[in-house]
Amino acid sequence: MTNKLRYFIGNWKMFGDFGSFKIIHKINQFSRKSKNQSKKKIILCVPNTLIHFFKKKLKSKFISLGVQNCHYHQGYGPFTGSVNASMLKKAGAEFVILGHSENRSEGETNQLIKKKIESALNEELSVIFCIGETLKEKKRAKTFSILKNQIKSSLEKKFNVNKIIFAYEPVWSIGTNKIPKMNELKSTIKFIKNEFKKTFKTKKSPKVLYGGSVNDKNISLFSSISEIDGFLIGGASQSSKKFIDIIKNYYK
Ligand code: PEP
Repeated sequence: MTNKLRYFIGNWKMFGDFGSFKIIHKINQFSRKSKNQSKKKIILCVPNTLIHFFKKKLKSKFISLGVQNCHYHQGYGPFTGSVNASMLKKAGAEFVILGHSENRSEGETNQLIKKKIESALNEELSVIFCIGETLKEKKRAKTFSILKNQIKSSLEKKFNVNKIIFAYEPVWSIGTNKIPKMNELKSTIKFIKNEFKKTFKTKKSPKVLYGGSVNDKNISLFSSISEIDGFLIGGASQSSKKFIDIIKNYYK
């Protein structure tokens, strides 16, 4: 069993109401009782409508809360329907997912994501920065060049890397029950770490998570890759049992 810090981050997507607090409560209780607490970091990224309510309701916190996107603009402005990083921070968010492929597919560019990352970091939110190739790009052997471009175009050397966690999420793997071959995944995670170090001329390796169809059955496969610093879990994080079983099985 590894002794390194591991992240287990849930992305609830468009899911949940006030009654869903029971899921948060169960995961918080699990975290409270679990051994090796300092070696795992559990974060649930929930809809904006729930973050404040959950934050208030959680009396003792053994998990962290985050959200799933923010507007790039700092301060208030004429952006109907949008919420900025500062508003989310005040509502209780500590983390924000940015660059998720479901938002990229709706038109988010690398340049826009960069502005969002900068704005989130300025508000002292930690960023879960999603990158990954589509199936078409993978078939054309473009995975590494796509990842390189996503990293280069959305990050700057001045950004505080301690506040950025990468999530490698192959688009073809999200919600499809398809996962990468373990040898390919290992070299992709290593590539991301090296590419970041090379591009930003730093010796400090970033944290890189894997995301895409992680479940309680396949998690044991991933635990063999020590370079993976944790997981971004979508669908399975909407059930406390499934989410907790993933964590339990990782450490089995
Ligand atoms: C995600 O939405 O980030 C994700 C990884 O989804 P899923 O686990 O459902 O594939």
